Amino acid sequence: MSTARKSGSTRRHFLTRLGALGVASSLPARRLFASASEPSAPESAFTNRAPLAANTFYFLPQGSIRPAGWLKNQLRIQADGLSGHLDETWPDVGPDSGWLGGKGESWERGPYFLDGLVPLAWLLDDARLKSKAQRYLDWTLEHQSPNGIIGPSSNDDWWPRIVMLKVLTQYQEFTGDPRVIPVMDKYFRHQLAELPSRPLRDWSKFRWQDELLSVVWLYNRTGSAYLLNLAQLLRKQGYDWQAQYDDFKYTERITAEFLNLEKGDGLKDLALATHGVNNGQAVKTGPVWSQVSASPADRSAAFKMISALNKYHGLPNGMFSCDEHLAGRDPSQGSELCTVVEYMCSLEHALAITGDPSFGDQLEKLAFNALPGTLTDDMWAHQYNQEPNQVECSLHHRPWTTDGPESNLFGLEPNFGCCTANFNQGWPKFASSLFLLSPANDKAGAAGLVAAAYAPCEVNFVLAGIPVHIVEETSYPFRGNVTFTVNPVSPANFPMQFRIPAWAQGTSISVNGQAIPPPSPGSFARIERQWKPGDRVELSFPMLPRVSRWFNNSIAIERGPLVFSLNIGESWVKLRDRGMTADWQVFPTTPWNYALSINEASVTRSIAVSETKIGEGPFTALHSPVRLMVKARKLNPWRAEDGAAAPPPQSPVTSDEPEETITLVPYAAAKLRITAFPQLKS
Ligand SMILES: [Zn+2]
Repeated sequence: MSTARKSGSTRRHFLTRLGALGVASSLPARRLFASASEPSAPESAFTNRAPLAANTFYFLPQGSIRPAGWLKNQLRIQADGLSGHLDETWPDVGPDSGWLGGKGESWERGPYFLDGLVPLAWLLDDARLKSKAQRYLDWTLEHQSPNGIIGPSSNDDWWPRIVMLKVLTQYQEFTGDPRVIPVMDKYFRHQLAELPSRPLRDWSKFRWQDELLSVVWLYNRTGSAYLLNLAQLLRKQGYDWQAQYDDFKYTERITAEFLNLEKGDGLKDLALATHGVNNGQAVKTGPVWSQVSASPADRSAAFKMISALNKYHGLPNGMFSCDEHLAGRDPSQGSELCTVVEYMCSLEHALAITGDPSFGDQLEKLAFNALPGTLTDDMWAHQYNQEPNQVECSLHHRPWTTDGPESNLFGLEPNFGCCTANFNQGWPKFASSLFLLSPANDKAGAAGLVAAAYAPCEVNFVLAGIPVHIVEETSYPFRGNVTFTVNPVSPANFPMQFRIPAWAQGTSISVNGQAIPPPSPGSFARIERQWKPGDRVELSFPMLPRVSRWFNNSIAIERGPLVFSLNIGESWVKLRDRGMTADWQVFPTTPWNYALSINEASVTRSIAVSETKIGEGPFTALHSPVRLMVKARKLNPWRAEDGAAAPPPQSPVTSDEPEETITLVPYAAAKLRITAFPQLKS
């Protein structure tokens, strides 16, 4: 059931030894229940309890991974921005929230906010943010009705509770609060009794797999058999996502007419089955359900889903189009921010359950491009939808399937306020997914750690009975070197695995300066040895520019996990103040209609790379630590209409305009941008 669970005496020994190493001050002493303001340092992980099927990897307990370097700074920017102040300026999660017992918003916004605020607060060990979150948590935990339901009594929808359950599981892991498990147990018993007469409907019907995460979480802790019955009932009442993708029919841009939106069919199955956020959440369905079903076909279902989404709706920023329904491959179509963070969450679970490194590649592409690309540098304003070819953010009529005219403004709640509350989960959950646990089993031997995605962080965990502290130092994704310093308190045998991205042909890896056989791209490099304090593993990923193909045979330039864009000159025009923030339109001030001159036989000779110091805001235009220079010519027939770039003309193209050298920056740095370019005939 559980592995690597260690006694308190080992823990105390760990702290004593760490004290000797001079790092104890970063690790608070453990208690049976650490107070909410004081995180307990984790020392065990829960693996799947029989009869659940085993996963390849498992999440480490919350708090095992601590962000460092640029990632910690990014979380700090988030905390100092809208995330850390949302309740002060947005009534929907303010003092009158239904999730604080008030008469205000009583649906998904409170739980969405907390789903990011809780990990943000505890990862940063930020007392101000913890006390904000604690009020909602205490209200929820202390106001369970006698029948077991949680949350505002004015709204009995199952859906917002699915989100709050995810919040409670994270909070319990950070703090060990003993109230959480009994409240969840009582809630699930109530729901099992209630579902036959009050079944899942609309959002909860299409997002049932997100509740299954919390059902499995609780089952692994209590072993109560009724939870398996509840899992079966959720599956039975929930939408059959796998059937949708076994025979995928939504291969074209969806329209409001197709969905009958004028007749009010927005919550009918057709609209919900083609809804972007629902599909982003659904990517995890097969792997998550496979824990219960033990079916290999279920476990591999996410590959089929992602493959269809990429084939018919794929965009060069790693997203599929959804503005807000599936929208085809034109790079002027948008993707909703909720979908970005929900897709990331799905990929994190798919990666852990299946152990397939390709999910890590896709996760990094979203985390390093689409996520920061749709928020202002200070994280005080966001878009509802972003476009890879985004030449204007304004109130012009737009080409989106069903989104409203404000959707790509930067602001407090453009179009609709879901993303305002939900975006908060993106960076914190990514930080908590950087390392995974490979469990002990007959095939793999001892339990070990897996570097699943790369960003600077520290890990504290107990392996083979020995407390281990790992420091990951890197400027990835802007540079290709990643260094891990492994510090077990005494020599310890355990495996470590390192994800080698599919693009990373020619990666080298060394242990204490000694090269080991080069790993294959698209796999995990495994090193099993007796680790001694101070051992160093160094990865060097080749960061060569490469070309990917998109709509109308257009090209995008990628380097490592980063996608590059032309940064169009931006004129930011304030539309209105919004409390502590504001809504902005952004208009272009420089030409953008370029076609690139790239010789695919020698991409590296067609593109010059310039690296500069990595500063405080690596995703901002001002401090872009890497830029690419490429030859281009203007393509005059390629124009914008009503503020949206026309689809890139079918490549290859020709142009008589003079050759220029243009500079590309990381996607996230360019808030007005071209990412999918026509290619000049060579
Ligand atoms: Zn949203």
